[in-house]
Amino acid sequence: FIIPDFAALQLEILAIYEGLRGVDEGQVADYIPQLGRVDPEKFGIALCTVDGQRFAAGDAQSVFCVQSVCKPINYCLALEQHGAEQVHRHVGREPSGRGFNELTLNSEGLPHNPMINSGAIMCCSLLRPSWEMADRFDHVAETWRKLAGGEAVGFNNAVYLSERRTADRNFALGYFMREHNAFPDGTDLTETLEFYFQCCSIEVDARSLSVVAASLANGGVNPLTRERIFSADTVRKCLSLMSSCGMYDYSGEFAFTIGLPAKSGVSGGLMIVVPGVMGICVWSPRLDALGNSVRGVAFCKDLVNRFNFHVYDSL
Ligand code: GLU
Repeated sequence: FIIPDFAALQLEILAIYEGLRGVDEGQVADYIPQLGRVDPEKFGIALCTVDGQRFAAGDAQSVFCVQSVCKPINYCLALEQHGAEQVHRHVGREPSGRGFNELTLNSEGLPHNPMINSGAIMCCSLLRPSWEMADRFDHVAETWRKLAGGEAVGFNNAVYLSERRTADRNFALGYFMREHNAFPDGTDLTETLEFYFQCCSIEVDARSLSVVAASLANGGVNPLTRERIFSADTVRKCLSLMSSCGMYDYSGEFAFTIGLPAKSGVSGGLMIVVPGVMGICVWSPRLDALGNSVRGVAFCKDLVNRFNFHVYDSL
């Protein structure tokens, strides 16, 4: 086993979980009503190792929508379909140093990276653009199911509808990119945006998202089903960008203190990858000022204090 004393790990994780249950700082995202109604006390943790050992605590089987956690997956899909050279003709790979939905492009008129809204919208435009919308969504949802090993993956239609109704900024980003000729020829902007909102509205629970993270930790092979979903090269590129850009404007600080590729979303979900070891999901809806789950970030700090999981701990 990759973690020989799994029982000891479980006790430590449980102790971190218990220690954070009382933390009630932060605010639930309320930019759309559906997210604002989530119980702020929800708190679930789940992990899955690359050899399939699993542990979960708290609300690990309550569903939540992935929101920005869809971004790394869509980036992987775009890489698999087009290769890195083609994908990066349309999206950069540098942290933006700006807010995740800021109206800004890099010096080439492209979105800075695939982990912010503009770059995620761009990746959506690259995914099977000639297919019917239903088939494009199935393609993404099917990939999520494979990454989760067949466990909980759904879709929250109310979130999707409400996201679409309050999407002025994302539309603005789309038009801004179109003005700069950033999209592939023939892109249907409205369809692309709707596709992006649908991807954000995919629902998981902490347990299934931990398996998704474990599939990334395992170089693209699902540890439970042994199915290869992404190539190791795709995952390597994705984890690199999660490391530099996955935690909103806390990404640099997170890389420094935690040193693990991760992606957070406004629903309070956080996917953490310990490469070659395990995938972890923490879900707790209260967010800090930068948009990351308060308990999620606190969990990561406790984790690297107790274990040598920081990528440079081996030095
Ligand atoms: N659907 C959200 C948006 O596009 C995602 C935000 C997020 O999780 O960062 O604004």
